[in-house]
Amino acid sequence: MSDHFLILIPDELSYVPEIHAQDKMLQLLRSFGFDDDMIQMTTSESVQFIDQGANFEHILCPLCKNELQLEQWQLLMDAAYRTGFAQLEVVVPCCSQSTSLNDLIYQWPAGFARFRIEIFNPSSDINETQMHVLETALGYKARKIWRHI
Ligand SMILES: [Zn+2]
Repeated sequence: MSDHFLILIPDELSYVPEIHAQDKMLQLLRSFGFDDDMIQMTTSESVQFIDQGANFEHILCPLCKNELQLEQWQLLMDAAYRTGFAQLEVVVPCCSQSTSLNDLIYQWPAGFARFRIEIFNPSSDINETQMHVLETALGYKARKIWRHI
């Protein structure tokens, strides 16, 4: 048995929508056919890394498009973790340029956030039109993460 989660996070990692915006998103998700017991909205005190689980393939540098070695990425993550992910700016070893851990190209997508919506074992995807409506309610562009465990 394996489970998958469809996770939405705002593209601004410290952003937490107001309660009425969260309610609006819950109503929208219901109207898209997702049941309440499949949907969980979480706000954490600090920024967390929202990973893709078994859907991890590789990580590319957004600047030179080279692949980051996992050990190199882990070192950068460890340093950022010690700041409570308050400091995500890093100098990538591939091209010695500055970027953010949140801007690395994760295949499949992953990201950093305080607020997330998780949909447990959805039978369907959220299409582009639905995404746009959700983003309007959220007040931000959102990143879609498929976590497979
Ligand atoms: Zn690079």
